[in-house]
Amino acid sequence: MTANTDADPGNVPTAFAELGLLPELLRAITEQGYSEPTPIQRQAIPPVLARRDIMGSAQTGTGKTASFALPILQLLAPHANASPSPARHPVRALILTPTRELAVQVEASFRAYGRHVPLRTAVVYGGVDMDPQIRAFHGGIEVVVATPGRLLDHVRNKTANLSRVEILVLDEADRMLDMGFLPDIKRILAQIPKQRQNLLFSATFSDDIRRLADELLNRPILIAVAPRNTAAETVTHQAYSVSGDDKRRALAHLVTSRDLRQVLVFTRTRLGANRLARGLERDGINATAIHSNRTQAEREKALADFKNGEVRVLVATDVASRGIDIEELPIVVNYELPYSPEDYVHRIGRTGRAGSSGEAISLVEPEEHKLLADIERLLKRSIPRETLALGAEREHRDTRRPRPEAHPRAEHRRGTSTAREPRHPKPSTVAADGFDFSKPYEPALAQSATEARERGNPQSVRARRSITKAVLLGGHGSK
Ligand code: AMP
Repeated sequence: MTANTDADPGNVPTAFAELGLLPELLRAITEQGYSEPTPIQRQAIPPVLARRDIMGSAQTGTGKTASFALPILQLLAPHANASPSPARHPVRALILTPTRELAVQVEASFRAYGRHVPLRTAVVYGGVDMDPQIRAFHGGIEVVVATPGRLLDHVRNKTANLSRVEILVLDEADRMLDMGFLPDIKRILAQIPKQRQNLLFSATFSDDIRRLADELLNRPILIAVAPRNTAAETVTHQAYSVSGDDKRRALAHLVTSRDLRQVLVFTRTRLGANRLARGLERDGINATAIHSNRTQAEREKALADFKNGEVRVLVATDVASRGIDIEELPIVVNYELPYSPEDYVHRIGRTGRAGSSGEAISLVEPEEHKLLADIERLLKRSIPRETLALGAEREHRDTRRPRPEAHPRAEHRRGTSTAREPRHPKPSTVAADGFDFSKPYEPALAQSATEARERGNPQSVRARRSITKAVLLGGHGSK
């Protein structure tokens, strides 16, 4: 790969209309409600339209899907036709994604942006019946979004003919390699013409990704919308030191005291995800787990329930979280820190998307402090940390003020009575030092407490500790 950096970031178009897109695409963009292109869209659309290869460093949430979908639709638009003959609709663009969820979302984006361009699109992934996919291939499709394994099944069955592919996209290439898809990708490369345009997107650039890029890309334009391996600037980070035993109570507090309706929570293992979701359900909080051991139908249902608000807490593992796209997800909680700091970047890519603000909260037990330090090194920033002493609160709970009524919606359980007692009593919102977690957070106070600590005033330090619990439990910018 010979890097070419002739995209001048100082001279990029600032409006969609300046990007040279077709009126049909501009209309669809307006209908999507997008007022201006995101940085990756500004930088990637013109060179993709000029048929250049791209190596894009962009995490999910930056608007990268439109940065390749829009110009691909434009490049293929001259081929759009209404002929019933499958031969007039060969596969011309192939987009490979690591997960089924991401494939579904990317294909939905192609359909949304391409609604006024009569090209055919289809999504192809494993774990579901092959027949509808076979029928789609037989009928003819110009744009195929696929996970590698299932696509290869179709190639082996001779359902999919990839000999006319003009544009190849590897989306979330780093995750595809993490998931062991490299051999499959190579098999697919052997099926498509050597003369083609290649677009590679990856949130992180390991040596393996660079090797793949070297093999794949021809004089690519390098585009980085955020400094390498950094998280969205719109996300605030906060870590709470808490014992492993208290984590679930801390999380339950966070959800109920701030009346959060949509929280994405990460665990490291599938078992941990299941256990936490069950525990939260017992605490009276609708929760479900999404991980790779669940069937496709179960994963889709979990995601749909989360999106429509029936489930408040979606507990996910790193692999399953790929491709979860929920607009303006306000908060992501790391119930357990990931072993790989890059996974932290991926996790929090689910919040603070496309310019909206988000919060990343980490519950950190003593053994995890080294992982937190690794994350800080990768992000090149420190994450504020506070200690949560929920144990003391537990001892004092019954001798303090009467417990405030829980929010009625917090008691809601799918198909069960709200009067039902949870197996574990709900923790109080009043801490040992008398601080009421249910009261709203006051940023001005927090600010002055921080300043006071820096001045060495111990009384204010105590005030700050209480307030910081409220940051977790009462919330800044509480929704
Ligand atoms: P992506 O990074 O492609 O997963 O996109 C993240 C989210 O940003 C999606 O929900 C898109 O619908 C949204 N989005 C993409 N482009 C824009 C834009 N120009 N303005 C506002 N939202 C956008």
